[in-house]
Amino acid sequence: MPRGVYVSDKRGRKSRPVEERLWPRTGRNPANGCLEWTGGTNGNGRGVIGVRDASRPNGIRMEQTHRVAWELVHGPISEGRQINHHCDNPLCCDVVDTENHCYLGGYAGNNQERSEHGRHHARRGKPITQAIVAEIRRRLAGGEQGKTLAAEFLMSEQNVSRIKLHQTWA
Ligand SMILES: [Zn+2]
Repeated sequence: MPRGVYVSDKRGRKSRPVEERLWPRTGRNPANGCLEWTGGTNGNGRGVIGVRDASRPNGIRMEQTHRVAWELVHGPISEGRQINHHCDNPLCCDVVDTENHCYLGGYAGNNQERSEHGRHHARRGKPITQAIVAEIRRRLAGGEQGKTLAAEFLMSEQNVSRIKLHQTWA
């Protein structure tokens, strides 16, 4: 099931849009630079917030805050993709600074990538192939943001702009 942008809310009860409930409950931690969730957490220490889910009997489900934050900023997360943390801070909801905090990672079932994709390797991402270069150019031409593509393909925005300008992998 593709996840849409989370909107609200509890059935039959007036509720503010999720962005108005999420961002005010985050704060920048000066010690680590993270934008930390300060509200409720689940048993694994991850931030959770109620989002609308019509398939649930009560019309709501608890979703991880960093995923909700990602969708609010970047749009829907493709099925099966994970939002990972460079900062190793599960409460961090900084989805803008994808070089240092949250980034779009691989597929949930891909334990191989998960274990190899540690902090030290995280920023290098996957090898860039001609196919990826072609897709990036096509999507840039279609109006997508370099920042979004950089996060999706686990590369720096600088690399995306080099690809765009045909400075590399021409
Ligand atoms: Zn962080």
